[in-house]
Amino acid sequence: MGSVSESQGAGEALEVWIDQDLCTGDGICAQYAPEVFELDIDGLAYVKGSDDELRQSPGATVPVPLPLLTDIVDSVKECPGECIHVRRAADRVEVYGPAAD
Ligand code: SF4
Repeated sequence: MGSVSESQGAGEALEVWIDQDLCTGDGICAQYAPEVFELDIDGLAYVKGSDDELRQSPGATVPVPLPLLTDIVDSVKECPGECIHVRRAADRVEVYGPAAD
């Protein structure tokens, strides 16, 4: 009620996923944003949710916490596998990642 921030609005929810087929396992993402990325025992990076559980099914996403967006975007840029994808939750359009340009 009385919201004046429509430009920041509801459509901006983002989610992130990793394409493990391309992950090199260097762990850069887990250094930048350990809250969201973690290397598993198989040596590949996975996203994890606020429950700290890794999401291991292919293409699984977790929501991007807004305070972590900069760290996550830095991970996208530095990822040598070019395999971190950030997309709008609403329409699944990639906004940061190899398919965003
Ligand atoms: S930065 Fe990219 S390639 Fe490196 S561990 Fe993370 S997802 Fe894998």
